[in-house]
Amino acid sequence: MTGLLAAGLALALLVAVFKLRQHRRALRGLEQSITERQPYLREEAADHLGADWDRLCEAASALTGEVNRLQQFRTSQLAQLEATLGSLQEAVLIVDHTNHILLANRALQGIFPSATDIMGSRVELVLQSREFLDYVEALRAGRAVPRQTIEFAKGSDSVWAEVTGSLIPPLDGQDYQWALFVLHDISHQRKLEAVRRDFVANVSHELRTPLSVIKGYIETLVDGHHDMPAGDRERFLRTIQRHTERLNSLLEDLLTLSRLESVNPGLQRETVPFAKIIAEVAEDYRTRPAAGDRRVDCTVDPATGSLWIDASKITQVLENLLDNALKYTPKGAVITVSAEPRAGEVVVCVRDNGPGIPPEDQPHIFERFYRVDKGRSREKGGTGLGLSIVKHIVQLHGGRVWVESQLGQGTAFYFSLPRREAK
Ligand code: ADP
Repeated sequence: MTGLLAAGLALALLVAVFKLRQHRRALRGLEQSITERQPYLREEAADHLGADWDRLCEAASALTGEVNRLQQFRTSQLAQLEATLGSLQEAVLIVDHTNHILLANRALQGIFPSATDIMGSRVELVLQSREFLDYVEALRAGRAVPRQTIEFAKGSDSVWAEVTGSLIPPLDGQDYQWALFVLHDISHQRKLEAVRRDFVANVSHELRTPLSVIKGYIETLVDGHHDMPAGDRERFLRTIQRHTERLNSLLEDLLTLSRLESVNPGLQRETVPFAKIIAEVAEDYRTRPAAGDRRVDCTVDPATGSLWIDASKITQVLENLLDNALKYTPKGAVITVSAEPRAGEVVVCVRDNGPGIPPEDQPHIFERFYRVDKGRSREKGGTGLGLSIVKHIVQLHGGRVWVESQLGQGTAFYFSLPRREAK
């Protein structure tokens, strides 16, 4: 009897241990499904666990399905957001509450090309500007202006951007706030404004000198014309005439430049024999009193042929270069105008054996109002605009212009004109 009881107990214990193991196995299976976000596949071994177990498994599978659906929705939303931000022209940046970058679009890289692989970096390592950090702080403190123009360092240069910032609640539901910035690059406008300011300052300066001389001499003539010796009066009038001519040349050159820079510079191209143009300009200069005893030679390769150009504008280019060659060379100088065909273009050279141009000035002489020797240029009636006009006309024809010069040896100005058929 006792033996039977003991055997029954042992059997019951065996069954209990077996069921416990099955239970554990089923639980591990469910746990693994939840961890891997897979629906729970019911095992035969779990059949005996009953209706409660089935309901638990269904609820767990439904929950896993919902989590997966939400995850997918979030991923596609993020992809959509990234695609939208990526197509924006404005740079967009989101930083977290500790100023670490969470998101930046492609346009930001357009402004700061070195900003690659920046997710998670501190914002000040990418956008180098004390002003920007102050703006971020002001935004968080609720005292930032809606839009602020900020200068960022970009290597040795600067980038100017209009920055708009706003605070956004983080997606992970915490109580700190993220900050979103939109940067509109205005560096180009800034540079244009600086060029315009410089230009206005230069023009005012150029106009002031002759005008004040003219005003001074006219006042003297008005006050003292009764008892002024005729010789003085003559001298004063000549000075007034010289400065009026200077004003006139300046206005002429300014008008020419503004026409050349306008949307429609009005090139009137025609096919013309190029050697003829050079010969006519050279002849004109040879016989000018300003040439003195300087020699003006010309050598044109007959293969140069005809070119499709605006003859009057190219004549102006040659005249400006010859004017300079006469102005800046001493008496007895030799000036040569030459032209020869090269691959697809004709290269023209106006060479003199004058004083030359210092190497440090050579990169700047085509800029407006740039002069190597200001006094000498003004004394010779120069406006500082001649070479700038040359560059514009040549570039409008699709050509290039450059200078080669050695101090004490002379200067050679070159320009090229593409050989193009008439359209
Ligand atoms: P400018 O009216 O002063 O001559 P340009 O634009 O024609 O203005 O020339 C710019 C400067 O380049 C001149 O002021 C002069 O210093 C220098 N330059 C131009 N041509 C020569 C040359 N042939 N020899 C030496 N210097 C020259």
